Amino acid sequence: MTIRVRFAPSPTGMFHVGGARSALQNWIYAKQQGGVFVLRIEDTDAARNKPEWTEGILSALDWIGISRGSYEGPYFQSANAGEHRAAAARLYDSGRAYYCDCTREDVQARTGSQYQGYDGYHRDRGLGPGPGHALRFRTPDEGATVVVDLIRGEPTFENKLIEDFVIARGDGSPVFLLANVVDDMTMGITHVIRAEEHLPNTPKQQLLWEALGVKPPIWAHVPVVVNEKRQKLSKRRDKVALEAYRDEGYLAGAMRNYLMLLGWAPSGDREIVPWSVIEDEFRLDEVNLSSAFFDEKKLRAFNGEYIRALPVAEFIDACQPWLTGTGTIAPPPWQPEEFDADAFAAVAPLAQTRIAVLSEIVPNVDFLFLASPLIDEAAWTKTMKDGSAELLDDAVAAFEALESWDAESLKSTLEAVGAERGLKLGKTQAPVRVAVTGRTVGLPLFESLEVLGRERTLTRIRAARLRLV
Ligand code: GLU
Repeated sequence: MTIRVRFAPSPTGMFHVGGARSALQNWIYAKQQGGVFVLRIEDTDAARNKPEWTEGILSALDWIGISRGSYEGPYFQSANAGEHRAAAARLYDSGRAYYCDCTREDVQARTGSQYQGYDGYHRDRGLGPGPGHALRFRTPDEGATVVVDLIRGEPTFENKLIEDFVIARGDGSPVFLLANVVDDMTMGITHVIRAEEHLPNTPKQQLLWEALGVKPPIWAHVPVVVNEKRQKLSKRRDKVALEAYRDEGYLAGAMRNYLMLLGWAPSGDREIVPWSVIEDEFRLDEVNLSSAFFDEKKLRAFNGEYIRALPVAEFIDACQPWLTGTGTIAPPPWQPEEFDADAFAAVAPLAQTRIAVLSEIVPNVDFLFLASPLIDEAAWTKTMKDGSAELLDDAVAAFEALESWDAESLKSTLEAVGAERGLKLGKTQAPVRVAVTGRTVGLPLFESLEVLGRERTLTRIRAARLRLV
């Protein structure tokens, strides 16, 4: 039997990192089992869906390595509406479902207590279809539904605790629970790997599979991803959109490596491993049962390591979207014609060891391309102290006299300027750095000045000196 798994996102918002993790787990499982990965877009909630969210899902999956054309689909749930209705009709015809027109208030009035689920009032009253009549599934009174779950063993649900749940609304439209089952059935899905939040739906869904006469799938409910307060990641509170990480300059390789470490680890105390190792070693049944902390700091550190591991030419290529402002990435502060590819290539290796996300390339190199640096006023005030003006005068004089404009000569020259005033190099270079780059932190100063060139360096130091008068 060919294993068939699916990833079934609802296009109701930006693509969530937790979703990306489920997609990767499905993807790897299919690969390991020689199976098929199906993508299904669950777009039946017309009020909340937008086509751009679907496009966002497809491109985010593509970015993370689940590329278009390499899976089956995308299928669209809405295209299967006829099947959903036919299944509802079959369940009614076979007596497994019945119509009900009770409101919540009706049920509460009868049971006289807090609403604790539907009381089965219409089970045997023979109400027929009609406007406002919802279709409810007749759950078994006895026995238990045992779910086979690759991660959780065999969670068991007592049938008498499962209410007769709605499968089609009063307007005849099937609900998510049924549509999801019918789609999995028509698509021949054998394994449903999804987030833990769907576990409460699972006994109901398994009952539907059985009632429709098809062997239910094997399930795997993966623990949720949480923030540092152990709260489930939420799009209102946390940074959850995969696209946001992509646009900030996380590398797809780092991101997918990190996502797979949420609740699982490769052998040998390693964390950063080639994707092929993850594809070989990942085991669904080894996924930890406790919720997984999405640690953005750790992800940053990871990404820094991935950036440092790139060959310089690839690093330069990877920076291009931030240097030019491509797609959803904001344009840099310089004009395209101000950009100098050779100057960038000269400083790229220095930047590569210092940035953790690619977008940080911009504030590190903007001084090279802008006619005058963007001065960070707080940095200026903090750095320019009594004596800075004279120090800058001396630096200009010493730099003007320099024979060779190279990092080493620049360094020894400025060191000497500082030594005359009893200053260490760090203190001496701070005002020069602010004058030239506008910031207190950045790439190594003397290499930067070498690339910037004598004229521009001197112009900037003189301009800063004028501000200090
Ligand atoms: N569309 C559902 C969701 O995005 C998926 C349900 C499932 O995987 O079965 O949560």
